[in-house]
This record gives sequence, structure tokens and C-alpha cells, in this order.
Amino acid sequence: MKTQKSFDDETKGALYVVPTPIGNLEDITYRALKVLRSADLIAAEDTRNTKKLLNHFDIPTHLISYHEHNKLAREEQLLERIERGELIAVVSDAGMPAISDPGFEIVQAVIERDLKVVVLPGANAALCGLVGSGLPSSEFYFYGFLPRKKKDKMEELERLKRLKASLLFYESPYRIKDTLKAIQEQLGTRRIAIARELTKRFEEFVRGTTEELITWAEENEMRGEFVIIVEGGNESTEDQADPDWWEELSVVDHVDYYIREKSYSSKDAIKQTAVDRKIPKRDVYQAYHIK
Ligand code: SAM
Repeated sequence: MKTQKSFDDETKGALYVVPTPIGNLEDITYRALKVLRSADLIAAEDTRNTKKLLNHFDIPTHLISYHEHNKLAREEQLLERIERGELIAVVSDAGMPAISDPGFEIVQAVIERDLKVVVLPGANAALCGLVGSGLPSSEFYFYGFLPRKKKDKMEELERLKRLKASLLFYESPYRIKDTLKAIQEQLGTRRIAIARELTKRFEEFVRGTTEELITWAEENEMRGEFVIIVEGGNESTEDQADPDWWEELSVVDHVDYYIREKSYSSKDAIKQTAVDRKIPKRDVYQAYHIK
């Protein structure tokens, strides 16, 4: 067991994990600016990128690179400097370091050496996407980027299928369509939200069912950065991979299922029931309201 008192001896060195904006520069915090300014060194995923941020805020602190390909080689150097009492800040290109970005290994190494790690709160695309999605946020599972190969992607989705938690994925514009189709194949119909270009001028949330989002992705040019938020499964999730899972249900029970199990509004439940049964919405509406 180990205990860290983060602020008991400010003369000691520390690793500061500093989140940076994911688009809007105003999302940097006062504290992040203070730490970046007072640090002895900033270890950055891409020094050119971070240099622009530092120039914008007039911060002269020295930068070195810390990325996927040199993170192990850099480790010893950073640890020695922290041991000497220096304050090292680690940043990634955007958002929280160590979240689908470099950072985890240095945090782990610092802890192993009994040195201090201090994490600043700040911008993160997944959490903004989740909260804005309107999907349940009481339980969520952050996955990050799914594997690129279809077979591996399907295997991972299979593993996630039974989780009740909302699922959070990062995805590139080039793969978003295929990933939505893989989600449809493996998880069936669910509510999904896509958060695009968060904090930027063209920020957009698209909320709907898996099928609606696939149509949207097919009909629009996919540009920018995306978070995909998928509602969690439930006991009957397994059945839902079968497109006719509802066959034994009456129309009313089918609508009630969506309201009860998936917290749909009655309007959305009627709409989804009509989509599942391939019948007009009006027919479901009548069957449901004249029950
Ligand atoms: N560390 C970052 C964080 O805390 O969010 C994530 C870094 S990861 C390499 C980059 C991915 O995050 C993008 O491909 C996209 O899926 C997501 N992302 C980053 N910025 C975003 C934004 N402004 N809007 C939507 N998604 C974003």
C-alpha cells in the first residue's frame, strides 16, 4: 500500500498531468496555465502543436517530445528530473493525457518510484459527448478507438454487448460508417448519439437509433472529430441481435418494452416499434393509445 499527499511538501518534484482544450482555447483552466508556466519542463505528444498553445498564452516553458514512439526511452530522463525536485508537466495534443493518448506509462512509472503525480481536471471529449448525448450517464464504459479490422471490431463489440452501461467510442471520420454498421450487426437497435466537433464552431449532436444514424452517415459527408455514445444493453439484449426479437410481443407490449426497459419517451417508443415492425407509425400509435 502507498499513500501520496499531493501538497504536503511543495519543494518535492512532481508529474503534473495537464489537460488541454479539444477545440476551444477558452477551455484551458487558470490552473493549467499556472502549472504550464511554472513547470521546469513540458513533455508534449507533439511539440509543434503544444508550442502553438503556449505561444497563444505567452508561456515560455521549455518543451520536449513524449509520444507513442519514444515514451519508454524518455521515461528515465523524466523520472530523474522529478527525483531532483523538478516539476514536469505532461500534455497530449488535446484533452486529457492518458485517455486514448500517451501518458499512462509515465504516470505508472512515477507511482512505482514513489514520486508524486497530480492530475488537473479539464477538457475531455468522451465526457462532454456522454453528458450531451442524453443517454444514461449513471454507468458508462469508455472504450476509446475500436480495432480497425472488422473481425477484431466485431469481437470487441460482442464482448461489450451485455454491458448495461452506456458505451463510449472515439472514431475517425473515415471509419464512422463502418463502425455504426458493425454496432448495428452486433448490438442490434439501440439509441445512439454522435457528438461531432465538440467545443468548436461546427459542434453537432446527432441523436437517434442505430439505423437512423447509419442513414445519416450515408447521406452526409463525415468530417471532423467524433464521439459515439451507445445506450447500454439489458437482459434482452441478446434477443435484440435477432431482428425479429419482438415477434412474441403485442404492439402494446412492444412499445411498453422500449418505455420500461430503455427509458424511451412514448413518442420514441412508438417510432421505434414502427421501424422494427416495418409498419406505419400511425398504426402503432392507434394500437397503443386505444389499448
Ligand atoms: N485525450 C483526448 C480526450 O481526452 O478526449 C482524446 C484523444 S484521441 C487521440 C482523439 C479522439 O478523441 C478523436 O479522434 C475523437 O474521436 C475524439 N475527440 C477529440 N476531440 C474531439 C472533439 N472536439 N469533438 C469530438 N470528438 C473529439
